Amino acid sequence: MKAAVFQGVEEPLEIQDVEEPTADEDQVVVETEACGICRSDWHAWKGDWGHIGVVPTEGLIFGHEPAGRVVEVGDNVERFREGDMVTVPFNLSDGTCQHCRDGRGNICDRMVPLGFLQMAPGAFAERFPVREADHNVVKLPDGVDPVSVAGLGCRFATAFHGLVSRVDITPGDWVAVHGCGGVGLSAVHIADALGANVIAVDIKDEQLWAAEELGADEIINATEVQDTPQAVKARTEGSHGVDVAVDALGVAQTCKNAVNSLGKAGQHLQIGLTTGENDGNVELPIDNMVMDEREFYGSFGMPPNEYDQIFRMMSRGKIDPGQIVTETVALEEVPGVISNMGNYETVGIPVCNEF
Ligand SMILES: [Zn+2]
Ligand SMILES: [Zn+2]
Repeated sequence: MKAAVFQGVEEPLEIQDVEEPTADEDQVVVETEACGICRSDWHAWKGDWGHIGVVPTEGLIFGHEPAGRVVEVGDNVERFREGDMVTVPFNLSDGTCQHCRDGRGNICDRMVPLGFLQMAPGAFAERFPVREADHNVVKLPDGVDPVSVAGLGCRFATAFHGLVSRVDITPGDWVAVHGCGGVGLSAVHIADALGANVIAVDIKDEQLWAAEELGADEIINATEVQDTPQAVKARTEGSHGVDVAVDALGVAQTCKNAVNSLGKAGQHLQIGLTTGENDGNVELPIDNMVMDEREFYGSFGMPPNEYDQIFRMMSRGKIDPGQIVTETVALEEVPGVISNMGNYETVGIPVCNEF
């Protein structure tokens, strides 16, 4: 079968003919119908994430935002049948550790990320296997378009989990989203659906216009203001600052801007992981955070049990991940899309839907 295969740091992925996967007893094999192309692919491809244990090796198949059809079911798998339409959250869990039993499989003690390590080959391929399928595979409701589900990917899901399950958003709250790539636009769209007043911040007008389309009430181009946190605060009543600030990019600047745009008792939501340049460390104004009782939350993917909330909101048109999908491409184009992400010219979420 065809697959997009890692050759080495910053070398274009190569489309190769590789052996088809088969399902071990706890696995299913999924025939890929769509898979989102993500900034996380770019980070891993650049060798950015050694500090979190993600070191791709030659021969790895990338792709962690899939939708597809189950074509083979291992003997021990109980919840799935051939023909089921499914998606798979990228952080594969074991289903047995304390966090999994608490419904937080996304932070499983033995988590293996799909499409980042050889032990869990990804979905830029005609087919891919899923380990511990009963814990990790999510069945799609009837009639959902695979491209929209791939658009859900890690970005929409991580934003949803963060805004719905991590921070508290009350209708009318001010939410600032710093960085309007795929995950930032997802956060804007979801915060709007939750009834928040949304301020979108980016350095590119195209991203900000997209944010406006998806429900941002205010937009700020950070290149056009002196002090981004102050500019955000100025849009809120009494310039008090926002209730929730999201860093949806994961560089020191957007993280600090987000924390500094918060009002007292505000909540910071960190969605993006940092780049190799920051090496996982960002300096923060701790004393001010303490005195203001600001809180800091992380969001890392979404546990499988939370997908139903998204599907129910999708079914009534309250959210539409498909709106953030800007481009569909064939497998042969995936290597180029990933290599070009360093230009930050991608608007929204590109999805591969031709294998
Ligand atoms: Zn676990
Ligand atoms: Zn992703």
